[in-house]
Amino acid sequence: MKSENKGRILYNLLAISILPLCLLGVVILVLGSYIFRQTMYSEISHELEYVALNTRLLFDTAYPGDYVLVGDTSYRLYKGDNDITDDYTIINEVNTSTGMDITLFYQDTRILTTISSADGELIVGTGAAELIKEEVLYSGEANFYYNANINDEAYFAYYTPLYNSDGNIAGMLFVGKPRAEVDSAVLKSVHPLIIAVIITIIIMAVCIFVYYNRIVAILIKIRNFLSETADGDLNAELNPEVTRRNDELGQIGISILSMQRSLRTMVETDTLTGLYNRRSAHRRLKQIMDKASGTGKPYCIAIGDIDFFKRVNDTYGHDCGDIVLKTVADTLKSHMRNYGFAARWGGEEFLLIFDHMKLDESEESLNELLSKIRMLKIPYGDSTVSLTMTFGVTSGGDIDEKDLLRRADILLYAGKESGRNCVVSRNFDN
Ligand code: GH3
Ligand code: MG
Ligand code: MG
Repeated sequence: MKSENKGRILYNLLAISILPLCLLGVVILVLGSYIFRQTMYSEISHELEYVALNTRLLFDTAYPGDYVLVGDTSYRLYKGDNDITDDYTIINEVNTSTGMDITLFYQDTRILTTISSADGELIVGTGAAELIKEEVLYSGEANFYYNANINDEAYFAYYTPLYNSDGNIAGMLFVGKPRAEVDSAVLKSVHPLIIAVIITIIIMAVCIFVYYNRIVAILIKIRNFLSETADGDLNAELNPEVTRRNDELGQIGISILSMQRSLRTMVETDTLTGLYNRRSAHRRLKQIMDKASGTGKPYCIAIGDIDFFKRVNDTYGHDCGDIVLKTVADTLKSHMRNYGFAARWGGEEFLLIFDHMKLDESEESLNELLSKIRMLKIPYGDSTVSLTMTFGVTSGGDIDEKDLLRRADILLYAGKESGRNCVVSRNFDN
């Protein structure tokens, strides 16, 4: 059941981390732009106020005296003794040096201005808006407007009243900037912030994606290993990438490998003797038979049975029988270490496999083993138990497992018949 399908976990992990990240980005952008814009607006309003005050001062210095409108039909505006009706010296100078539009009102009428209409004519003679008249001219208060409509164009505007020496309001001074100009300046300043936030979000999103993708890839390897194990493959291999990790996933990998080892031990070994059990003996015998049929290398199998074991049980008890079985198993195991392996075939019967060995070599080895068994003196209470065994051994060949085992069994039976305590060997193919 191997599957590389990433499933939902990657998408869920990405969703719970990248979506809030994007949201945070949007909040930073919106809030940042707002704060930036407000800061710029307040800076510009200070600038407008400063320019307005300076312009008023310039007029007062250059032309001392009051603003007076003179004339019957065609009016002229005087400041002190000077006719300033067409005098653009100060206004143009301020306009050039600051880039701001300036208008001098007498009462609510524009006398001098840098603002032109669509056809290029200065909008001299036009009047101020009602709201501005009320809030500046009549109330005598300077005021700032974010969105003053002048000549169909939106302006950032600062209006300040102009006083004569008697304290009466003679007119107003306007200093302003087209809103479009200010907004584009704001946008230009916010641009680097937008780009920085977007790049940061992209980099963080890519890092998150790569990291989660790796984690999920490891989880998939663990899942595949577990499903192979669940399907009964206790030799499933866990990708070494998992156990190489120096984190919790690596620890999980090590734990499931040791779980696999424990399971294998439980399933493959006999609890009493610690030898391979019958089930794993079948599996290993099959492996050896397959290998031998491919390479043509010899091998032999033997079945050994403890002689008169029932008597041990009957005489000393079942516990003693168990101790004897364990001692015999240890002897078989250590003897077979260099030849092949031993397994508990059932009860007091054992299967021995001689890998890469001919029949005469196997027989010789079994006789050696039988001598070791005969020499055993197993202490139990005040007694010492000795025993013998009978073995039937035959060589493997072009034959199936069942027949091969049957042949070994026949030889064992022959050994029992002939008086036990012996090794009976025969090559059935000759
Ligand atoms: P033979 O020489 O013909 O093999 O005689 P035997 O007495 O060894 O054979 P038999 O089949 O009559 O008896 C085998 C006994 O082994 C019977 C059974 O109670 C005993 N046995 C099988 N498994 C165990 C075990 O795990 N522990 C103990 N204590 N006894 C066992
Ligand atoms: Mg027996
Ligand atoms: Mg038996």
